[in-house]
Amino acid sequence: MKIAWFCIPAAGHTNPTLGVVRQLTGGGHTVRYYSFDMYRERIEAAGADFIPVDDYCAEMHLSPADGKRIATDTAFATKILADTTLALDEAMLAELRSFQPDVIVADSMALWGKLLAIKLGVPFVSSTTTFAFNKESAQVMQQGLGDLFKLLLSLPKINRQLKRLQKAGYQINSILDVVQNDNSTNTVVYTSKHFQPSAESFSDKYVFVGPSVTEKAPLPRLTDKPRVYLSMGTVNNDMPALYRACIAALADKYELILSVGEQVDPACLGELPPHVTAAQRVDQMAVLADCDAFLTHCGMNSVSEALYCGVPLVLFPQTAEQKGVANRTAALGAGLLLPDSSETAIRAAVDAVLADSKYREAAGQIRASFRSCGGAQEAADFILHVAKS
Ligand code: UDP
Repeated sequence: MKIAWFCIPAAGHTNPTLGVVRQLTGGGHTVRYYSFDMYRERIEAAGADFIPVDDYCAEMHLSPADGKRIATDTAFATKILADTTLALDEAMLAELRSFQPDVIVADSMALWGKLLAIKLGVPFVSSTTTFAFNKESAQVMQQGLGDLFKLLLSLPKINRQLKRLQKAGYQINSILDVVQNDNSTNTVVYTSKHFQPSAESFSDKYVFVGPSVTEKAPLPRLTDKPRVYLSMGTVNNDMPALYRACIAALADKYELILSVGEQVDPACLGELPPHVTAAQRVDQMAVLADCDAFLTHCGMNSVSEALYCGVPLVLFPQTAEQKGVANRTAALGAGLLLPDSSETAIRAAVDAVLADSKYREAAGQIRASFRSCGGAQEAADFILHVAKS
């Protein structure tokens, strides 16, 4: 089989797909992965043919300030999507007509993949690394995707962008046609039915294959104090005041591991006690393999990795998407929302999550649900099944 795969320039959307690509190429199938130069190595290592699309993607040419706007300004994000889709349109149509894929797989935000599949009449699978999105799940996630949903419906600027796409022959009536896969769209979701909000509202065209996680041997403990890990992810993590507050709030009682990101010099945190470590990046799965609580920005990957290890969470989301993940985790009882970044609030939340075993038990239930999913093998089988249809 020949599989064309499209993704957006984001590690969190690319990494979960690589195990599936490996399954497909290992089974003798050809995967052409249209992505961005910074992911070339890992995509080729998974056995796919890598085709760079950097030149077409409007997001790749943004200033850092506009790059941040994408997460908060939906109309702007839609313009970027429309620009990228139109730029890719001609080149990709020619490319796909010569490759003749049996199926096109595209990240749920790689609008162009889905629209090219519709235009060419090729079977399509959506690869969804966030929660699957529809009216019901948006409602359950409350202020997270719920707000986004309202915004999407109301913005005239978005409609202007859609008109540009319609003129180029893309049959979409609303942005919801794109971000929301209806129940007739084949969709791979990298989480479990238990963790997915409103899982029952999705048809059997949705397969919940569980997070793509590779377990690591645990990082040895430094003391017998409970271990707390803090990371705000790899994107919006320039938060030295938060790191200082955590050290002040927690260092007397806990072993503390801080991943501060590449924009912060750990030296700016001052001299640290021996049971507190701060690094720009840590082996997160090794830390989580033996950890008592994780203060997280609620990126889907970080939360999934923690819950895969059964670690309860202190939830400190920064974006609408992260709020959706935080609300779902809190609703299932596996974490507590941090109301603000004061030392008092941090100490109270971490103490509370460790004092009551119900948080770890709820995390354990999600852990079990993840571990009973079919993983990359099920995703690959599903894609091949759609390709044959
Ligand atoms: N990560 C890591 N080491 C670190 C910090 C993060 O390996 O010190 C990894 C983490 O395991 C996860 C990813 O980076 O797989 C972060 O993805 P997430 O979706 O949580 O957040 P984002 O960085 O996209 O905001």
